[in-house]
Amino acid sequence: MQRSVAEEAIDCPFCGENLTVLIDLSVESQSYIEDCQVCCRPMQLSYAIIDEDTVNVEIDCAS
Ligand SMILES: [Zn+2]
Repeated sequence: MQRSVAEEAIDCPFCGENLTVLIDLSVESQSYIEDCQVCCRPMQLSYAIIDEDTVNVEIDCAS
């Protein structure tokens, strides 16, 4: 059965907290701003889906 979302663990670039983000697997690659759930600062989150089990996630400080 194909999953529609994946959970990926990331580290906040500001406070270093471990966070979990939901990746929409129906979109091949995406880039958006997400506020850290802990320190509320904006992170630039980009991801690319390599295959069903592999998602390449990059986190940056949004300016
Ligand atoms: Zn944070």
